Amino acid sequence: SALYRIDGWGAPYFSVNNSGNITVRPYGTDTLAHQEIDLLKIVKKVSDPKSVGGLGLQLPLIVRLPDVLKDRLESLQSAFELAIQAQGYESHYQGVYPVKCNQDRFVVEDIVRFGAPFRFGLEAGSKPELLLAMSCLCKGNPEALLVCNGFKDAEYISLALLARKLALNTVIVLEQEEEVNMVIDISKKLSVRPVIGVRAKLRTKHSGHFGSTSGEKGKFGLTTTQVLRVVKKLQDSGMLDCLQLLHFHIGSQIPSTALLQDGVGEAAQIYSELVRLGAGMKVLDIGGGLGIDYDGSKSGNSDLSVSYGLQEYASAVVNAIRFVCDRKSVKHPIICSESGRAIVSHHSILIFEALSATAPTTPAMNHINIPFIMEGLSEDARADYWNLRDAAMRHENEACLLYADQLKQRCVEQFKEGTLGIEQLAAVDGLCDFVSKVIGASEPVRTYHVNLSIFTSIPDFWSIGQIFPIVPIHRLDERPEVRGTLSDLTCDSDGKIDKFIGGETSLPLHELEGNGGGSSGGANGRYYLGMFLGGAYEEALGGVHNLFGGPSVVRVLQSDGPHSFAVTRAVPGPSCGDVLRVMQHEPELMFETLKHRAEEFFGQDHANNGVNAALANSLARSFHNMPYLAKVSSCSLTA
Ligand code: PLP
Repeated sequence: SALYRIDGWGAPYFSVNNSGNITVRPYGTDTLAHQEIDLLKIVKKVSDPKSVGGLGLQLPLIVRLPDVLKDRLESLQSAFELAIQAQGYESHYQGVYPVKCNQDRFVVEDIVRFGAPFRFGLEAGSKPELLLAMSCLCKGNPEALLVCNGFKDAEYISLALLARKLALNTVIVLEQEEEVNMVIDISKKLSVRPVIGVRAKLRTKHSGHFGSTSGEKGKFGLTTTQVLRVVKKLQDSGMLDCLQLLHFHIGSQIPSTALLQDGVGEAAQIYSELVRLGAGMKVLDIGGGLGIDYDGSKSGNSDLSVSYGLQEYASAVVNAIRFVCDRKSVKHPIICSESGRAIVSHHSILIFEALSATAPTTPAMNHINIPFIMEGLSEDARADYWNLRDAAMRHENEACLLYADQLKQRCVEQFKEGTLGIEQLAAVDGLCDFVSKVIGASEPVRTYHVNLSIFTSIPDFWSIGQIFPIVPIHRLDERPEVRGTLSDLTCDSDGKIDKFIGGETSLPLHELEGNGGGSSGGANGRYYLGMFLGGAYEEALGGVHNLFGGPSVVRVLQSDGPHSFAVTRAVPGPSCGDVLRVMQHEPELMFETLKHRAEEFFGQDHANNGVNAALANSLARSFHNMPYLAKVSSCSLTA
């Protein structure tokens, strides 16, 4: 596990058991040994052809672990409670979950349910997000906040006011100055007293990738002048008491508590000034930004790593607010945060299979037919060969490599000119591989082909270079002999992963069983990899490049049964028909067109009934199956 730094990024949830498989401890360090869940067992269970309605689920697969989600939420809550108690802070913490991080119905419903005892709420940034937050919070704690962020039109504001009428604790956070006019007008028309927040543009700037929205020139929020104009407008309308919340967000992955305290301190000053100006202030909402240590280094010096944990984060926030408010004799506000990444990242694991790898090509010397090679070589290439042989006799390794490289280049030129056959070119490749192997040049990095679309399942890697820990979920008791990069199914050169945590450009991997060795650790020759910490953002950002849709999803609860887990929900990923529909195709019509064509082609007479039925069946299955590669072909034209 040290090779993959699992203890660094995975603690306290992920570790390796005695069988060499990754296990999940759903409650972190409070997990008992018999409660640990072996990921390989989940994959075997749900992909078994006898499971899930007799079909078995196809990979890629997202394994969702609500117990981990619960633990994250409770850990965040207790970190704030501890800091509040330790510092004698005179109000409470009441967080919200920004649904944009993962809008999956079960994730949001779980958060509302797990967070109800401590009034945990939701944040929405668009109209559909508001609709889902409203309906989920109907079953939540009535005091839970519903924070409405994002750019708003009259419809968004009316909906948020309706939520308030329905007794949901809704706050409309002004993201642009003009929104205040709409809020004043519409709330008067609907006779609802709104609760209003303002998002302030802080001067504190987060310099990492995710900080581009911070600082005076950031995309969101109101400048100091605009905040003052909003205060004036609300005062003129007799609504200054409605202004109750101050919000800011300086970006995701805040690298250090020093920067955090700087931002929170500045916001606390604005909050205190709003109190002085007569607003009905109650809540200071510090936005998101609580970071994840993706590479396990705790260094805090890149977007990949933060130098603090939950407790240090909470203590820094409480301390910064208390310090400012005490100096200004302002009543301590309720502290709200909008942590997304930190709540949902750990709870879901993407599991996918490596199907094949570029083979080690080195042949044995007695399989290399030198006279055959020589037959086709030009004068110059022949000279390279003799030089290579002489250098080998003198054990001059560097010269060997040089001549081998030169020989290869000349042969490629000859091939392009049409004077060298393809068999001879392949033989020269073999000879050159042999030379580099014998003189101990480093083993080339292999390419592992994975049954996955990076664009669909790990879009942030492609778009912003976000790196996630990727690890085989089994065989971790065997030393990986190979290094490899991962190449996905899309016909796109960007569909590959060649950057990994620790600054590595390849990943230690095991030989695939078919590729010469390996026990596969009880996985029937299959090789499964897991991408961890990807529970936030990836699912909503993923697209359908090459029409690969999302993965299958299972929801797995810890249970005290024999396997220590129970699969409570299993949903196959979108079928070929589903993804076609996304691009406005109509699978039913397409099926009819193709069936009709087959009937025309083979004729409709009785003798062909069997063939036509088999074709129709096969076509129907193609629409129905997932777009990913199936190991055992389910498409056969023979009935
Ligand atoms: N709140 C707002 C306004 C955001 O824009 C974001 C994300 O960028 C978040 C909360 C969530 O941030 P994080 O996932 O870093 O906690």
